[in-house]
Amino acid sequence: MARAFLIILDGGADRPVKELYFRTPLEVARKPMIDRLACEGACAIMYPIRPGVRPGSDTAHLAIFGYDPHVYYKGRGPFEAAGLGLDIKPGDVALRTNLGTVDDKGIVVDRRAGRYFSPDEIKEIENIMREVCEQVSKEFGVEIVYKHGTEHRGALLLRGEKISHEVSSNDPHKVGLPVKKIEPLVKKPEAERTAEILNRFVELASEKLRKAEFNERRKREGKPPANIILLRGAGVLPEVEPIYEKFKIRAAMVAGIALIKGIGKVLKFDVVDVPNYRGSRDDDFDAAFSTAVQLLANYDLVFLHVKPTDAYGHDGDPHGKINIIERVDRALAKVFDKIGDDVYIMITCDHATPVKVRDHTGDPVPLLLWGPDVQTDECMKFGERPCAKGVLGTVLGMDIMYILCNYMGKLEKFGE
Ligand code: ZN
Ligand code: ZN
Repeated sequence: MARAFLIILDGGADRPVKELYFRTPLEVARKPMIDRLACEGACAIMYPIRPGVRPGSDTAHLAIFGYDPHVYYKGRGPFEAAGLGLDIKPGDVALRTNLGTVDDKGIVVDRRAGRYFSPDEIKEIENIMREVCEQVSKEFGVEIVYKHGTEHRGALLLRGEKISHEVSSNDPHKVGLPVKKIEPLVKKPEAERTAEILNRFVELASEKLRKAEFNERRKREGKPPANIILLRGAGVLPEVEPIYEKFKIRAAMVAGIALIKGIGKVLKFDVVDVPNYRGSRDDDFDAAFSTAVQLLANYDLVFLHVKPTDAYGHDGDPHGKINIIERVDRALAKVFDKIGDDVYIMITCDHATPVKVRDHTGDPVPLLLWGPDVQTDECMKFGERPCAKGVLGTVLGMDIMYILCNYMGKLEKFGE
């Protein structure tokens, strides 16, 4: 039975860049392997959600996996929590967390508290948070768990009666502004109580963090202390049919960041950890691609997520983006001969992160599909302009799984 290898270059698509003589990073990057696939295969442009909708990585991935984000997206927190290994269940409320720095007046001076923490510091942070969670649990009769992730990031999980995800964030999203109060977003007792619980959590956490030994050390070393916890992305787990039931396929995922891993876990992909693959700029693409290709022996669909293209888009750095695309191309070329000839390869992006905009836009993104019996077209390279000439035309994110399942022979006939 045919199989599929789906590669997403997160935020890989772009707009014409002046310093690249009005070409895009994908058009400029030297990527002979990917261009060969575009040349031999079928191309398209894709709107991840709908024309003009600016996708988050979470909503775009849900759509690409065949789950309508308008139905299934109920906040980012649950995916982050699942991706960090928290055992989130229906009814639980989860939030993303950042450790940050506030001055004596409660003004946020660093939303990431310097971003980097040593393993010892993280241990201390986790101990403090455990105490805070215990205290809040006692006061409100709910279960509350903090899990630290990479750098300044983490997740918070709330379990119990009468809680709601319909609460605001305390993150002002900009430095120089005071920390906000968490407010209920609806007039419901559950939302009011949840806001109260979370405000108490924030208060207790900053009280204990301010006194923490590691923060004294950080101050001596000239580093910003982590003395506030910023909460956002409150959400509940959507009730979804696992991908193996929805499409009758066994699916595996290779991803570096908690958000995408969490989506994979919630949809019941087998999520595989690769050492030195954490969604950072020095990700080991060779290791990720060789793991993905090994997985193709046992799965119908293997999904590989490439994060740093998006990070360089947010940084406004076209050359950083080009470099990642070229490294991905070399990593794919190295394993290409090991990919069986019954495998369909699809490469696309979850949205554009144009270097000029430094954020996600609702632009169409290029897509290629390569594999046995795929119709070829005039598109000879993978990029925004060439793919617009592709035989598959314009597709939506929600079409992707159906296009792949059609070629894999996994779809029932519609009608007689
Ligand atoms: Zn993205
Ligand atoms: Zn992004």
